[in-house]
Amino acid sequence: MYPNMNKSEMPSAPPTYLESVGSAPIGFTTPMYPSPSVPPMYQPVPPSYPTSNTNQPNQVVIVQQNPPLARTPVQMICPACKSQIISTIQEDTTPSAYLCCALTYFTSCCLCSCLPFCMDAFKMVHHTCPQCKTFLGTYKP
Ligand SMILES: [Zn+2]
Repeated sequence: MYPNMNKSEMPSAPPTYLESVGSAPIGFTTPMYPSPSVPPMYQPVPPSYPTSNTNQPNQVVIVQQNPPLARTPVQMICPACKSQIISTIQEDTTPSAYLCCALTYFTSCCLCSCLPFCMDAFKMVHHTCPQCKTFLGTYKP
């Protein structure tokens, strides 16, 4: 049908801009302007968050603080039955008294070995609740 059709006469793509104009301007260089948009001393400042303590009042947790255990009965609030009680004490001899007794027995005399049992430093006091019989703690000197 088209026997004389020559493909060379029909370029597949139109010529580009550079091909049609020539070549890009080689001598064009960007002038060395000092870039005014960027300050040289620019330093990123981190955002300062306000302290959260100033906004909210301090939440004071009121805890019923029992007095520290002593050698004598202590008036306190039982943590188990939540009642105002005076603790029942029960004195006991610490295990260190027996150890000290044995050491004193072998090192010194027999009479001195009984001293740890007489000294208050080797007495510990167990505090219990008189109502619910809950063990409250042990006072150790
Ligand atoms: Zn109690």
